[in-house]
Amino acid sequence: MNRKIGVVGAGTMGNGIAQVFAMAGYDVIMNDIDQKFVDRGLATVKKSLGRMVEKAKLAQDAADAAVSRIKPSLDLNELEDCVLVVEAATENQMLKAELFAKLDGICGPDTILATNTSTISVTAIAASTKRPGRVIGMHFMNPVPVMLLVEVVNGLGTLPEVTDAVVSLSKELGKTPVVVNDSPGFVSNRVLLPMINEAIFCLESGVGDKEAIDTVMKLGMNHPIGPLALADLIGLDVCLAIMNVLHNDLGDSKYRPCPLLKRMVAAGYLGRKTGRGFYEYQK
Ligand code: NAD
Repeated sequence: MNRKIGVVGAGTMGNGIAQVFAMAGYDVIMNDIDQKFVDRGLATVKKSLGRMVEKAKLAQDAADAAVSRIKPSLDLNELEDCVLVVEAATENQMLKAELFAKLDGICGPDTILATNTSTISVTAIAASTKRPGRVIGMHFMNPVPVMLLVEVVNGLGTLPEVTDAVVSLSKELGKTPVVVNDSPGFVSNRVLLPMINEAIFCLESGVGDKEAIDTVMKLGMNHPIGPLALADLIGLDVCLAIMNVLHNDLGDSKYRPCPLLKRMVAAGYLGRKTGRGFYEYQK
């Protein structure tokens, strides 16, 4: 069987996805729009595998073999004969629609086209192709090599055999696939983001300070990290964008983003990536 996988986008998620497929013995074509992005993606994979070798979680020859299975690419045509293409490009609906229309023209009729989108409708992305039955969401979590979940998202027209194939592929990667249906935020962000937003409301209205809120959720609910620290990790701009999608698409005021979240994003306090969010970080 053809064991060739395409990954479009070599950023935070794309290089992690390329890594886990390569570790599972697949040949991976990792595509991006500029050499510097594929170079950075490959360097990140090497660093991640190197850490696994250091911790004796992976043998050096297995790490070398995984790296050798990843072929960097700047040409989407090279994805022609992949069994599966996972798109992990920038979160922008127009960009994804264009990419899927192109991939639909390039790839063979049996290729499954998956998107790693966090918030864009899988059904809408599928509609930009002539194969909506073979389009699906494959929502990996960050960092991909560490996190066990793959949220497998069925679009309205996704064929059952395509879901089955993606479920078994995810298991081959050592992940736990959970099948859900296309809806704003799927399950993961539909549940997580309102919790984070509510924590910000608690901070804004003085129910507790940031340490109190995070400690209650860590020690009381056994969460490994408090919701405000997690918001800093995700990026407050990303949190706001997801709340806006939930609010607009579900039309329920319970999803309105907290005004404090909006103010912090306007101020450029985006969390770890800018050195300041709810907490301060050394750059
Ligand atoms: P990123 O900005 O780190 O990487 C995106 C990459 O896509 C960049 O390298 C960019 O050059 C590339 N790209 C843009 N247009 C392209 C095109 N036309 N062809 C090929 N490559 C293109 O972003 P990311 O955080 O890796 O997010 C990627 C996707 O994964 C998004 O849809 C996002 O919603 C989703 N996601 C992100 C996370 C996360 O925690 N970062 C978690 C789950 C899902």
